Amino acid sequence: MDPRFIPTSNDPWAVATSYLIAAFASYVAIDLARRVRDRDGRLAPWWWAGGAFAMRTGVWSMHFMAMLGFEAGLVIGFAPGKTLLSWLSAVLAGAMALAVSARPRLSPRTLVLAPFPIAAAILVMHYGGMAAAEMVPGIAWDGPLVAASAGVALATAAAALLIFFHLREPQRAGRWSLQLGAALVMGLAITAVHFTGMAAVRLPVGSVCMSGDSLRGLGLQALTGTLTFTLLGAVLLASIADARRRSEGRLRSSLQAADAKLQRLAFVDALTGLPNRALFYDRLQHAASQQADQAPASRPRVAVLFVDLDGFKPINDAYGRAAGDALLREAAARLQQAARAGDTVARIASDEFVLLLEDQDAAAAALRLADGVLLALQRPFGGIGPGVNLSCSVGIALHPDHGAVADLVARAEAAMVAAKRSGGARWAVYDGQMASDVAEQVTLQQELRGALARGELSLHYQPKAHAASGAVDSVEALMRWQHPQRGWVSPALFIPLAERFGLIGALGDWVIDEACAQIARWNAAGRRCQVAINLSAQQLRQSELPARVAGAIQRHGIEALQLVLEITETAMMENLAEQGALLAELAALGVRLSIDDFGTGYSSLAYLRRLPVHQLKLDLSLVQDIDRDADACAVLHAVVQLAHALRLEVVAEGVETAEQARILRSQACDLLQGWHIARPMPAPQLLPWLEQHEREHGVRAAAVAPRHEPATGISR
Ligand code: C2E
Ligand code: MG
Ligand code: MG
Repeated sequence: MDPRFIPTSNDPWAVATSYLIAAFASYVAIDLARRVRDRDGRLAPWWWAGGAFAMRTGVWSMHFMAMLGFEAGLVIGFAPGKTLLSWLSAVLAGAMALAVSARPRLSPRTLVLAPFPIAAAILVMHYGGMAAAEMVPGIAWDGPLVAASAGVALATAAAALLIFFHLREPQRAGRWSLQLGAALVMGLAITAVHFTGMAAVRLPVGSVCMSGDSLRGLGLQALTGTLTFTLLGAVLLASIADARRRSEGRLRSSLQAADAKLQRLAFVDALTGLPNRALFYDRLQHAASQQADQAPASRPRVAVLFVDLDGFKPINDAYGRAAGDALLREAAARLQQAARAGDTVARIASDEFVLLLEDQDAAAAALRLADGVLLALQRPFGGIGPGVNLSCSVGIALHPDHGAVADLVARAEAAMVAAKRSGGARWAVYDGQMASDVAEQVTLQQELRGALARGELSLHYQPKAHAASGAVDSVEALMRWQHPQRGWVSPALFIPLAERFGLIGALGDWVIDEACAQIARWNAAGRRCQVAINLSAQQLRQSELPARVAGAIQRHGIEALQLVLEITETAMMENLAEQGALLAELAALGVRLSIDDFGTGYSSLAYLRRLPVHQLKLDLSLVQDIDRDADACAVLHAVVQLAHALRLEVVAEGVETAEQARILRSQACDLLQGWHIARPMPAPQLLPWLEQHEREHGVRAAAVAPRHEPATGISR
């Protein structure tokens, strides 16, 4: 120790407090660096001004606190004027740092040059603050340490800029812990600037502080500390509130954009670009309402043509799906050419098209059009393969001759079936005889009534696999009817029938009970598994549904979260107001809700936010084109992103190929379901399948519970 100078020390409490303030100010500063760029990347002036003020006041107060804790065995105070000057240069340093970090890019040139003025302002703050102590005789500075403090200031300024840039993107994962870590390091750097500066101070023996009676003392320390923490806290809160508001805004606008995409998708057939079923029915309804509005004499008549390609399936099988798609596109174009400008041509199923026309003389116009259609589709489809020829069967139904406008499609379809049965490549106009199909439905419905009692119904189970690991811990139960004569009848056929004839209640109750019983059996076999069942729109109208589900869960002693209820998007959106309460009641039981066939209805994603759902299943129509159609891929991407933003788990249905699975995985889809993983299978086959699957993939299913907790969100 040099006897010419007064021994000095620092009050440890002041050191600790000043470090805390520095770290807190850094944390706020990083937050603000994000704020000073608004949506367009321009400087947001208010955040900039307020931010520079608050954050640098924090840093300045840290220096001031530390200086107040500087002990040299004399009374040290600070002259107000110079103290104010030191504070102003602190604010200037902050303003510069924030302005630089609001730039779009941090070029190496900026990174090298910008720290100089910032460090200069920091040093003016520090040494200006020291000058405010007005020592006589003057402080004898230790040159190398002063230089070192300048170096540390430069390094701190550069590090701060790097950290601001690195952390300013709003959506980074793990941002909070990163920000905290960065703030602690920055706090250390700022404190280091100060204490290297203070170490450079040499006070000659006999020094007197001329401003000893100015700003000083423990009271001032406490006041500075409290004010600073309050100010920084207020700015941080404002900053967090602003971040919330912005991310809400972002979510809202991306919801709108995705909705617009989905709306378009909801009305246009992706393959052919023609109106789809939904839009066609919309036009049909419009035609019906126009009929009601006009005087009978001036009403145009309405005709529907139902066109089905003959022999499309063998061509599709022989030449592959891509060729089949090309053929459908070509057929669509020819139909559009054959129709008149005002007619509607739509594709409503794989190789089924419908045409709508309104005309005073609709009967003649429809027959002319039917001839035109037959001719147009008879021409060879050269692009597909040599000698690929097609024909089609056309059914025609007219309003008012054959019934209400709403019934025209069914009647035209019946006429088309008649045309096909009599050899195809022709048209037929509807007549009452064709209603025999209706009779067949009645028979089938009677048989379905007894099917349950005769044990002809069963559930098949299709696995849903984690996209990333391949592990399977949930399955979907799909109803099967083994008809004694007809063999397996598709649920796509008998479920609508059951709905139309009031049978769905009994079938649905059986499914709920059987699925719970199966879960209990698997539980007993040591295989905890989640089972999804499908609920029809009609079941959702039964107010006793929640009690029934709760009863089955209790009876079979299973956990509620092992049961998932799949509800189609359309059913969910229907009467949202009434069903909202029912869905909430179901969710309150602890069962999981899943939106089925998403992408086929008109749902607005914004609505989904209000529903207590956990999972979203992308309809296979959204999935099956992703490996061929960039548009489909873009929609998939938007929907997955949004579903995740809404904390929904995303399942892709109908995954048939490895390529589709790869794309879905790359789009962060959570679960995959489809023939690529496994076809639906009877319960006894599932456990052996699972064991083999796990051997092949080296995975074991996780426990059911944690993954599906909505609070923890999505596993990816
Ligand atoms: P869903 O709930 O969307 O079920 C998925 C359908 O896609 C099933 O048809 C399944 O067999 C089929 N599928 C699975 N993977 C693939 C694939 O890779 N490619 C293709 N092309 N298809 C695949 P399924 O079993 O014929 O069922 C049809 C619909 O019937 C179901 O659609 C569901 O809405 C309804 N359904 C089935 N079981 C029940 C039930 O128990 N209750 C009610 N209300 N509806 C049911
Ligand atoms: Mg389903
Ligand atoms: Mg589905």
